[in-house]
Amino acid sequence: MFSGGHEKGGFIVVDDFGFLSVARWEKGSQNEIILPPHRNCFIEGKAIVASFHTHPNTGADFQQEPSLTDVRAVRDDPDLKGEFYLGEFVVSQEDVYLIEPSGQVGVIGKTTEIFEGLKLWQQF
Ligand SMILES: [Zn+2]
Repeated sequence: MFSGGHEKGGFIVVDDFGFLSVARWEKGSQNEIILPPHRNCFIEGKAIVASFHTHPNTGADFQQEPSLTDVRAVRDDPDLKGEFYLGEFVVSQEDVYLIEPSGQVGVIGKTTEIFEGLKLWQQF
C-alpha cells in the first residue's frame, strides 16, 4: 500500500480509561505494510486517534514528504473518519507531517525536536 518498502507504522489508540498505546502494523509480503482491520476507526475495541508511518532516509532522492498514495490512503479510507481521529503522521528524517482526514497535508514540526527525549525514533 505504501511506496518505498522501508516504511513502518501503526495506529495510536486510546482505551476506555484514556490510556494511549500503539498497535503496530505488520510487514506483509514484498515489504508492504498491511493495515489490520479498523472498522469504524476502532481496533480491538479501542478508538484510533492517529496513525503514523516512517519515511526513513534511504538516499538523497528518497521522498520525504507524504506521497500521493499516502494522502489517498488516509483521505479515501472510510474507516479513518472517526470522531477522535486526527490524521496520519508521516515521520521523515527532517520533518513530521500530518495528513488530515480531509487529505490536507501540513508540517507539524522538526522530527528531532518532537522525538527528543521520547526515544521513540530509535525503535524504528
Ligand atoms: Zn509514506
